[in-house]
Amino acid sequence: MEEAKRSLSKEEAVIEAERCLYCYDAPCEKACPVNVPVPEFIQSIRTSNLKGAREILEEAHPLIETCGRVCPEESFCQASCARAKIDSPVKIRELHRFVTDNTDPFLNLTLQKLSRKKVAIIGGGPAGLACARELGRNGINSVIFEKKDLGGIPAHEISPERLERLIVEREVKFILKNFVSEVKDKKITSLSDIEKSFDAIFISTGLTGELELENINKNLRGVYFARELLKIAKSGLKTGLGKRVGVIGGGNVAIEIATVLKRENPERDVEVVYRRGLKELKAFKDEIEEATNAGVTFQFLAIPLEVIGDERVKGLRVRRARLGAFDSSGRRVFEEVPDSDFVIPLEAVIIAIGQKASEYFPEVEKTEDGLIKVNEEYMTEVKGVFAGGDIVRGASTIVESVHDGKEAAAFIEEYLEGGKNV
Ligand code: SF4
Repeated sequence: MEEAKRSLSKEEAVIEAERCLYCYDAPCEKACPVNVPVPEFIQSIRTSNLKGAREILEEAHPLIETCGRVCPEESFCQASCARAKIDSPVKIRELHRFVTDNTDPFLNLTLQKLSRKKVAIIGGGPAGLACARELGRNGINSVIFEKKDLGGIPAHEISPERLERLIVEREVKFILKNFVSEVKDKKITSLSDIEKSFDAIFISTGLTGELELENINKNLRGVYFARELLKIAKSGLKTGLGKRVGVIGGGNVAIEIATVLKRENPERDVEVVYRRGLKELKAFKDEIEEATNAGVTFQFLAIPLEVIGDERVKGLRVRRARLGAFDSSGRRVFEEVPDSDFVIPLEAVIIAIGQKASEYFPEVEKTEDGLIKVNEEYMTEVKGVFAGGDIVRGASTIVESVHDGKEAAAFIEEYLEGGKNV
């Protein structure tokens, strides 16, 4: 399946680059979790120096190909763009993608001579890969432990229409070839599973469990978790679902799977069932727009109560909700409306309410939600054991995981050199 969005043409990119004001304080750069020097790479596009633009991006960002496509710019760089005060923000992500689409990966980074130090990286998603790249640049060996194919969520769970698998594979291959000592096909769930031959450990397993709704029978035929369907779509196969599908949830994964299912079969009715209203949806605005344009519909203010059906799904019973006061996090709470139950006839129900941390790594301190606790230097309470990405933050963006991997690598290095943590 091809990606839905095309890259900017050269002419379009130069025109867009010319809109940049080259702000002296570069708020866009500050808003970027990995601090990409935005005005500098845009300036290189303006002067048709695409190789130079790629060098600038590569220097700052370990996963430029992936993030050039799926980084939520409306939450980061573009949200701070000074040009918005004049007309509209510079299309930074599209310029970023234009560079990666029109240049080949090449190694412009200075590599240090290999040291004898060796770091185990548990999990080969964005945080683990970013950490491995930064360590590799500085001559530190890393071994990635990963049971699945590497690449994490971008490789397995983002729809191919937003991010082709090939793009992620190319990026992963580049990192492995140039910065990683070894990859081991082994699932690690405890620090005791790791050989004693490592000088430090970085845990970046992400969130591997699924949040479930207590009253929804997940064993009924026709009930699925969104992530299992996204994996099918990513591998190029059809989900084979029927004509009426309901998706429970209001985050990015819910909107993404709804869009994938609608595009897979435009005749299919795909309805997102959400307890709150449009304004409260947690998904990114452009993804909601994409879903709406694809024909996905929404059943707002509807609380899922139970899946109807004996052997297989026949519908979803919901209760009307209304929005009440604001809670401590600033979100409006929903209240049930008495005597307002109704059934949405459905052939499949998709659960997309989020992920949770697994119970792995009992040796390190965790939060109530099972997330790993780290100090400001990404170290857990176990000396030499670091962690980052979703397993520390909870569900977040790819670029935030990349940030963690990059930052953690710097602190691991300091630790290995006998810095202040020792
Ligand atoms: S904030 Fe916008 S206008 Fe200013 S340097 Fe960044 S991209 Fe250019």
